[in-house]
Amino acid sequence: MKVEYQIPFNLPFIVGKELHYIAQAVTLGQLGGDGPFTQKCGRLLEERSGIPNVLLTPSCTASLELAALLCKFEPGDEVIMPSFTFVSTASAVVRAGATPVFVDIRSDTLNLDETLIEEAIGPRTRAIFPVHYAGVGCEMDKIIHLAKTHDLMVVEDAAQGVNASYRGRALGSIGQLGAYSFHETKNYICGEGGALCVNDSALLHRAHILRDKGTNRQDFMQGKVRKYEWVDIGSSYTPSELVSAFLLGQLEEMDRISEKRRCIYQYYFNHLEDLEKRGLIRRPFIPEHCMTNYHLFYVLFSSETIRDSVEESLAQAGIQAITHFEPLHNSPVGRHIGIQKHPLPVTESLAPRLLRLPMFFNISEAQQAGVVGEITRFLDRFSSRRGVSVASSGA
Ligand SMILES: *Cc1c(COP(=O)(O)O)cnc(C)c1O
Repeated sequence: MKVEYQIPFNLPFIVGKELHYIAQAVTLGQLGGDGPFTQKCGRLLEERSGIPNVLLTPSCTASLELAALLCKFEPGDEVIMPSFTFVSTASAVVRAGATPVFVDIRSDTLNLDETLIEEAIGPRTRAIFPVHYAGVGCEMDKIIHLAKTHDLMVVEDAAQGVNASYRGRALGSIGQLGAYSFHETKNYICGEGGALCVNDSALLHRAHILRDKGTNRQDFMQGKVRKYEWVDIGSSYTPSELVSAFLLGQLEEMDRISEKRRCIYQYYFNHLEDLEKRGLIRRPFIPEHCMTNYHLFYVLFSSETIRDSVEESLAQAGIQAITHFEPLHNSPVGRHIGIQKHPLPVTESLAPRLLRLPMFFNISEAQQAGVVGEITRFLDRFSSRRGVSVASSGA
């Protein structure tokens, strides 16, 4: 599937000691789960985020599955989440026996609209799974307050939110549980990888068991039992040392990676300002109390047709810009399994108008200028042909 784009949407990269650490892992002679590199990654993330326990996993999907199992759902239980998210948020919940209830998003941050959560809470509601879109925090104060009032679990899908914070607290550290991704398209990468953030210490023992194939291996390693055995229904949720070795090289350079992404984001933001002033596009919004990791840069156009035409015209210029989530409530499985108690007008209006621009560690300013130039040329042609502004009112 290697398409010849001059400017791809994403390119994996190496910043530090990734390859050196992989060689070291091989030399040390332990490549299975929970060796020294996996441990080091966990400790580094704990120190930086203030999360008491970060358990590395093979993916954010695996972390969400673990989190959903820890919620101990029963058939008929409901979980509130946005429809504008990746399938894993919902599939983890469904696999654990519960039903996703889709709630609309805010038009400014595209995060779960906290003002619509309460009307979706019913007698079977057990949890809220907020998703921090683009590494910008959801309104967690309100969400945690609602969860406390209604005795609900909060699991943060912080796949995109590693090294970002909400009112000074790391994303992933605020709910009982959080899930991180180190997939090659995220900020800090190892190909496929993730982590489970365990903020509620009462959940830690079972988290280890479920992650260790349903065994009490952790107790055995700590000398608490003489043998380890099958004690719960878990799975294999530990990553290989090879993967963790690569990841450690990236995590050690988190600040450099974030700073680079901030510059890339800022370039797009500044150079697309004029198009926004002319009412042709809308740029992303970051509330002041949110510190983002600049995970992605998206543009909202005034219609799906224009979005698709821009995508097409960029592709012809060798630039790969891509759309994002297909809302889950309209997907083949989501339609069938999910619950939608209220309409989702913002999700349905924004998702088809959104385009993500190329963003990766090694993108050059010249490449970014090419992307901006192509979008500008297209919209100039478009608006002069129409002779009118194609402005629309955001949402
Ligand atoms: C990327 C992503 C995931 C899945 O992460 P993997 O590590 O690929 O499993 C889940 N949720 C959201 C919001 C994501 O962006």
